[in-house]
Amino acid sequence: MHHDETALYRRLRRMPPAMVRPWLWVFDFDGTLVNIESHPNQVMVARPLLEDLQQLTQLQGHTVAVISGRTMTDLRGFLGSIPRLWLSGDHGAEVVGPHWHWVHGSAAASTHHFAHLAPKLSHELSGLPGVYVESKRYSLGIHYRLADDETTEALKKTLATMSLPSGLAFKHSHKCIEIRPLPGPTKADAMAIIRNQVQSSGVGSVALVFGDDQTDEDMFNAANRKDITVRIGSGTTITGAEFQIDSPHRVAALIHWALATSN
Ligand SMILES: [Mg+2]
Repeated sequence: MHHDETALYRRLRRMPPAMVRPWLWVFDFDGTLVNIESHPNQVMVARPLLEDLQQLTQLQGHTVAVISGRTMTDLRGFLGSIPRLWLSGDHGAEVVGPHWHWVHGSAAASTHHFAHLAPKLSHELSGLPGVYVESKRYSLGIHYRLADDETTEALKKTLATMSLPSGLAFKHSHKCIEIRPLPGPTKADAMAIIRNQVQSSGVGSVALVFGDDQTDEDMFNAANRKDITVRIGSGTTITGAEFQIDSPHRVAALIHWALATSN
């Protein structure tokens, strides 16, 4: 059961101030902070949003994290200009914050598989128009946003006959099939790690978690009762999030509102 934006703002107004109980903002990236584009490289972070995020990291009691399926290199390219921002790439495989760097054990142990698999798959799938293999250190993404239905079918058939090295598994997300270590890191692992680093002793923190995708559900499900969880997207979705809002545009508006009301 999830509620609309009005209910979300009502709830935010009732939150304990961040000076009393620290707020941990957790954002997914694609589809949450920025619109999904047909190719991941076409994404742009609007300057006002960058400035708002930076301001939010500078507010006392507020910590901001972006936890994404993208590589850390990618995330730094988009958000690296914000020094106090926490970043987690490859779905929780790696977490980087101010004076902090952590890599998930099974992810670190499987890097040689991905180095080997990426060129092999790129070659095998090169005949499928609109399919794009994204090579990452701790996982591998096969994107098919640009592929037509027939090609998508062919892709899924090819992958179904493929055997993966032990310790790796396919995971389906929005217009992308990933190959990831098993038992792999999840975004919830990254969230827990960041939470441990930022909450002051005895007080705890309240997390505000925003995501649009299946992999974000791990974070929603790991949230505490007092946290705020928000699924981005129109239409009806089965989600563990308490609230739903329409689009990245509305997320940006909410961040802007939070800044305005904190002064
Ligand atoms: Mg997303």
